[in-house]
Amino acid sequence: MTEFQSALDHVHATLSELREQGVELRASASALTRLENTPTVAKQAPEPVPSPLPAVEARPLSPAPDGSKAVRLAALRGPVLACTLCPHLVKSRTQVVFGVGHPEAELMFVGEAPGEDEDLQGEPFVGKAGQLLTKIIAAMGFSRDDVYIGNVLKCRPDMPPGESGNRKPKPAEMATCLPYLRQQIDIIQPRALVALGATAMEGLLGAVEPMAKLRGRWHDFHGIPLMATYHPAYLLRNQSLTEKRKVWEDMLLVLERLAKPITEKQRGFFLGKG
Ligand code: SF4
Repeated sequence: MTEFQSALDHVHATLSELREQGVELRASASALTRLENTPTVAKQAPEPVPSPLPAVEARPLSPAPDGSKAVRLAALRGPVLACTLCPHLVKSRTQVVFGVGHPEAELMFVGEAPGEDEDLQGEPFVGKAGQLLTKIIAAMGFSRDDVYIGNVLKCRPDMPPGESGNRKPKPAEMATCLPYLRQQIDIIQPRALVALGATAMEGLLGAVEPMAKLRGRWHDFHGIPLMATYHPAYLLRNQSLTEKRKVWEDMLLVLERLAKPITEKQRGFFLGKG
């Protein structure tokens, strides 16, 4: 018996045992069914999905789903870093940008996709917009190490030859990659999610609405409260205190939801000066 086969047998046995004990399993029903139906021989890697990219419900983890959140995230990282489901992005990317932060984070920020800086450094939100996000996180009383930061799309959207900058990810690209984010969220189980920008909201919920209509209220992402707010890049383009205050009010709602103490100074940020 190979090590792989032995690990799968162990997973099958553990799942049956948990079900018999009436334990609620947190993975999606389809993922569990796929796991349980996995034959006890090693499968070949799935064929790359041809373009246009269809939505993919879930993909099996490598056979180490048990253990701490850090162990489970580490088990997920390998397959994601080696993912080739979007051949056009595989061709153009420097690396896959998995996500960064505390595996036990109670707050998770979700952007749309890596940009040029993130593609080069392998970490989400490290460019100018990322630096602003870091300041927002600090103003909330956290550090980047306290929260988790990820994107709906893990590879930088490719650019037409000769063009620089970043493009918005396509809905089909985000739908193809979304199962990875869902697995990250399923492992981390944050108490609240913050979607940064309307494109991230589109990737998460399929909500094609302007941020002005989405922000300032709670949404639901598979049972986890989801706040929508402007992408930090928007604040870099619109430096008015009014817009900064809108984002800050969204963050105050997040702090209240997390039952964090809020100082009078924090409540007053960006008020009465613009
Ligand atoms: S964007 Fe996501 S699904 Fe597509 S190749 Fe990269 S990691 Fe895989």
